[in-house]
Amino acid sequence: MCLFCKIINKEIPSEIILEDDNFIAFHDINPKAPVHILAIPKIHVESFNDVSSDTMAGMTTFMQNVAKEMDIEKSGYRIITNIGDNGGQEVKHLHFHILGGAKLRWEHLSDSNPKSFL
Ligand code: AMP
Repeated sequence: MCLFCKIINKEIPSEIILEDDNFIAFHDINPKAPVHILAIPKIHVESFNDVSSDTMAGMTTFMQNVAKEMDIEKSGYRIITNIGDNGGQEVKHLHFHILGGAKLRWEHLSDSNPKSFL
């Protein structure tokens, strides 16, 4: 069973901030911003590549509620999902990083020259 399935099953503790029948949101153990929440579907889906539009519809509403719950809805935030090797995905269970609570940086995301493909 994958790490996040164990969190869903409460076999591994986490700081849950919101949960319903289909989704769960908890604090990232290694936060990269004052607010850093992971929102995941309870169904095991490896990455965004494999998720259905039905699951994404519910995920959208759930993440909007996470933003409200964390009081970052008005101040702004960022949602990221890493996909595969180049995306830097470490945990192979679809998860969305919800980051906020401060002005976020937006800088070069790779060591390659971003203009080399133009
Ligand atoms: P990614 O690199 O997109 O796969 O992100 C995986 C995220 O899971 C990282 O930000 C980790 O800090 C986070 N993480 C790993 N283990 C745990 C855990 N037990 N509880 C909460 N977050 C975790």
